[in-house]
Amino acid sequence: MYIDNEIERIRQKYHNQPEFVQSIEEVFCSAKPLIEAHPEYQKADLLHRMAEPERMFRFRVVWTDDEGKVRTNVGYRCQFNGAIGPYKGGLRFQKNINESIIKFLAFEQTYKNALTGLPIGGGKGGSDFDPAGRSEDEIMRFCQSFMTALYRYIGPDIDVPAGDMGVGRKEIGYLFGQYRRLKGNFENGVITGKGLSYGGSLIRPEATGYGAVYFLNEVLKHENDKLEGKRIGVSGYGNVAWGIIKKAAELGAKVTYMSGPDGYVHDEEGICTKEKIDFVQELRLTDPLHCKPYADRFGCEFVPGKKFWGTKDVDIYMPAAVQNDVDEVSAQKIIDSGVKYYIEVANMPTTAQALEMLRGCKDIIVAPSKAVNAGGVGVSALEMSQNSERLSWSEEEVDELLHLMMKNIHKNSMIAASEFNLGYDLVAGANIAGFKKVAEAMMEQGVF
Ligand code: GLU
Repeated sequence: MYIDNEIERIRQKYHNQPEFVQSIEEVFCSAKPLIEAHPEYQKADLLHRMAEPERMFRFRVVWTDDEGKVRTNVGYRCQFNGAIGPYKGGLRFQKNINESIIKFLAFEQTYKNALTGLPIGGGKGGSDFDPAGRSEDEIMRFCQSFMTALYRYIGPDIDVPAGDMGVGRKEIGYLFGQYRRLKGNFENGVITGKGLSYGGSLIRPEATGYGAVYFLNEVLKHENDKLEGKRIGVSGYGNVAWGIIKKAAELGAKVTYMSGPDGYVHDEEGICTKEKIDFVQELRLTDPLHCKPYADRFGCEFVPGKKFWGTKDVDIYMPAAVQNDVDEVSAQKIIDSGVKYYIEVANMPTTAQALEMLRGCKDIIVAPSKAVNAGGVGVSALEMSQNSERLSWSEEEVDELLHLMMKNIHKNSMIAASEFNLGYDLVAGANIAGFKKVAEAMMEQGVF
């Protein structure tokens, strides 16, 4: 009753923020058995508090384009929950970004970050700035203006941004440069995803994708199955998809489908050679809207304007593009395809109804994104540790820690679900485990 009432209240209050409401519903509904076992949460008004960001900024970002025209964008930073560590989460630059998307990502980030086992709270930010077609100089000026508005509210022990869609190593460099210039000191722990020459961590660019494959590997082991020889369909062809492609190839599996806003590519032989993998990396930097050039270059099939969900010639689906990419129609196709593994990678890639359908299908194993993609931010936390220690760890060291982290996230999710007799339900388990840690920290820190 308590949970249902809270969800209804949130639905009404934020009826114009559908993504935000969707992310809250998933966490609170999944954590229901835990919440019901703790009546003290209601007395402490815990769910209400968890659904309100501690702080949220909206600011003006003004810059001048190459023609001398003054441009005005909106910037956001949501410091959602700092109970277990400094706010941590990426910045997304995308033309249709809004408050609902930023808040859902920051809320999601809070529970994902808790799952990593490292001391990081949840935050997210971004802007409706569209980097497509912008020159190098324009991007630099935009980033400098963005940081000028934000710098006084962040810091290595306060709030540590990073990249996300539209924000890669280049933008991180400009953002950090401006922070350093304004502060007059070298606090490189203020931002992660940096270049290696000024405090970036090895493996960070690959971490989200590598972590997702490590997590998948744990799921397969649980099912007495193995990764070797598996064919994977990955939606997206960005940084995360690239990491998946690379690690899958290394471990003897192959990605045979990838997609972009223009359609999908089917490479029956798999994106396995160094040449192909490098091409994908290059393509995402030069053409974020079209994956077709891959098909042209390597002579494989390209299907314009369509998604590949429902194809039967893969063993694993990994949605790694954007939120709500898989709707009810796609979910039905996935169910009909007979494919057993549905491993979410992008933040909230499945609509609520589609997720319910997939979870309801006993032949499909669903792994939730907040567990699967947590390796990215996990390695960001390792980057913060290296920065504060003023040293850098080797590739092997970081990769080993990432691997261990993903194994633990899988194990802890499994344990959390079984504590409430939910069987091998990774969606429930991950949400319960993340929620539990945040709830405990908030309860012990008093009412505020
Ligand atoms: N944007 C990434 C995420 O969704 C990474 C955040 C970070 O490294 O702080 O987790």
